[in-house]
Amino acid sequence: MSRVCVVGAGAAGLCAARHLLVTPGVSQVDILEQSGQLGGTWVYTENVGYDDFGLPIHTSMYKSLRTNLPKEIMGFPDFPVPESEKSYLPAKDMLAFLQLYSDKNGVTEHIKFRQHVQLIKPKQGAAGEVWDVSYKDLNTGVSVTNEYDYIFVCNGHYNTPFIPNIPGLKQFKGDVMHSHDYRVPEVFDGKRVLVVGAGPSGMDIAYEITCVTKKVILSHHLKEQPKSVFPDNLIMKPDITKLEGNKAIFADGTEEDVDVVFLSTGYLYNFPFLHESCGIVVEDNCVEPLYKHLVNIQHPTMCFIGVPYYVCAFSMFDLQVRYYVRSMSGTFKLPSPAEMIQQWEEEKQERADRGYTKRQAHMMGPDQERYYASLASEAKTENLPSVITKIREESSARFLHNLQSYRQDVYKIIDDDTYEVISNGKRE
Ligand code: FAD
Repeated sequence: MSRVCVVGAGAAGLCAARHLLVTPGVSQVDILEQSGQLGGTWVYTENVGYDDFGLPIHTSMYKSLRTNLPKEIMGFPDFPVPESEKSYLPAKDMLAFLQLYSDKNGVTEHIKFRQHVQLIKPKQGAAGEVWDVSYKDLNTGVSVTNEYDYIFVCNGHYNTPFIPNIPGLKQFKGDVMHSHDYRVPEVFDGKRVLVVGAGPSGMDIAYEITCVTKKVILSHHLKEQPKSVFPDNLIMKPDITKLEGNKAIFADGTEEDVDVVFLSTGYLYNFPFLHESCGIVVEDNCVEPLYKHLVNIQHPTMCFIGVPYYVCAFSMFDLQVRYYVRSMSGTFKLPSPAEMIQQWEEEKQERADRGYTKRQAHMMGPDQERYYASLASEAKTENLPSVITKIREESSARFLHNLQSYRQDVYKIIDDDTYEVISNGKRE
């Protein structure tokens, strides 16, 4: 019988536990969660910096956030987000959804809250593969080490800010903030704010803060210029090349005076609790060696849920978990480590040939369907319907070109392949 440790009670950890609890041969499922609440990213707090226990605040959620994908593709395959009029939901509704998912699937009672995982390493001298997991009870300050047979790493990857190397940033006299610490627009009242990066958070926040700022300068290198209509106090610039005093200088040679540099430059994968003997290396945001972005090839009894991005997140978590638990219960056999390494190296080469950088090692986007199909076919489990990737594409395009109103669109899934969208009262 197997004992399983799940690190983190965000959407990925909850999904892992939901399946593990009904997997034959699994006798114990411990979900170790450092905070006092489930939901991870979706938990809003006004606090930034460190929490009462001295741990970095995990969530990057801001007060006004509404999902950037419609709820129709944000549920789990066996547990959709409940029906409601709107497609794009506030964060608190997603949090309530995760609570419901956890409660209904009997997961909540397996979560050990306020347990901070500090160290995971393969047990010395054990006959088979056994893991030592050391974690601290934040309420009592007492640390314990427990043995497990499997590890599910579900600690999220939107919590450790990536700070780009912009010449002059360290000397900049104004404020520098990362989107991880953004909560409400008022902090930028009357300021000239340089927003670096136009991912979902960068665009959303740049747009939101125009209501209080003197000026917003959105610097980005999007291949396609957004067609959205922005307020007059928001201008676009290419990549920033350097800061001199309070002047930002851009790739086209133009300059702007700024009071605040707001970095919406993404996050780093970070597994501070993995001992080096776990064999996982993160370099330039590439986590390796992982088979199918999921299985630790050096120690296949450890898996990582949720590493790929630009995906239908909760659905992908579910498919990754189903894949992995099927390997645990013997429905199929993982390839040998040598074969897994070979496949990972081939995938890396194939991505490089298509122009992907190392930093984009886990980016899916157009590769999503192929990735989902490869997991489903190898594990002989049900694939995700193609309609979800189609809606994701549609919603992302509307986000780029119609930021002001795309969240009023309402989606309806017709079948596994087709959907309709009602925009401005018109069926499209
Ligand atoms: P998390 O939600 O980050 O959960 C990880 C959990 O692990 C946390 O509870 C944390 O406390 C715990 N943990 C970490 N380290 C330890 C440790 N050492 N010991 C114990 N516990 C630990 N996705 C979408 O699909 N649609 C959206 O609209 C969307 N909007 C987003 C908006 C923002 C601002 C951000 C930051 C992300 C958004 N995402 C969105 C992505 C979102 O993060 C994922 O969809 C998903 O919720 C991530 O779940 P997770 O379980 O992987 O990680």
